[in-house]
Amino acid sequence: MREFILEMEKYASEKDIPIMQKEGIAFLMKLIKTNNLKNVLEIGSAIGYSSILMASASVDVKVTTIERDETMYMECLKNVKKCKLEDKINVVFQDALELNLAEGTQYDLIFIDAAKGQYQKFFEKYQHFLTPNGMIVTDNLKFHGYVGKSQTIESKNLRQLVEKIEKYIDFLKENKEFTTKFYDVGDGVSVSVRNHE
Ligand code: SAH
Ligand code: MG
Repeated sequence: MREFILEMEKYASEKDIPIMQKEGIAFLMKLIKTNNLKNVLEIGSAIGYSSILMASASVDVKVTTIERDETMYMECLKNVKKCKLEDKINVVFQDALELNLAEGTQYDLIFIDAAKGQYQKFFEKYQHFLTPNGMIVTDNLKFHGYVGKSQTIESKNLRQLVEKIEKYIDFLKENKEFTTKFYDVGDGVSVSVRNHE
């Protein structure tokens, strides 16, 4: 297993697939263990690296992961099978903004790690499927150090993407229903929990 994880890291780095940084995934696994989180929804599977590690964080974790890219989806399925984690990881081939979860479905961890420009949309759609004490974790809030410096970026596409992440951070900070903590681990991770009266 350990060796296969290293293999996946190598594969991702060779193919430029943005899997979670080591520090970030370690943080997420610890969060799962300490808070005894069991039902995880991940938006953005890629090759299954973070799903596989989250599913390995404790015996009773179950992960549903959504991926819209067919090549990634196939790769993810293959890797999940290799790790014999088919019983713990359900890979869904669909655009997360188009998927309709069954009413009443609940997750105690929702991990947002798909298209960075759509973060707020993912949050607003999936918050309704969070258990009362559940957590929404978002990755890549530093976006390789560009966040906070969008005005100095020359490439228009990159600037617009970074501006969207900056807007998402403001959305989290101003959100009255959730309290968000920001962690300077990996590429920047946030943890949002619902406020209770
Ligand atoms: N969580 C993974 C990395 C995900 S990379 C890990 O750390 O191992 C982001 C992935 O999100 C890409 O594979 C991309 O195809 C997928 N993605 C982007 N937008 C999406 C959407 N709207 N719905 C589903 N998947 C999406
Ligand atoms: Mg990420």
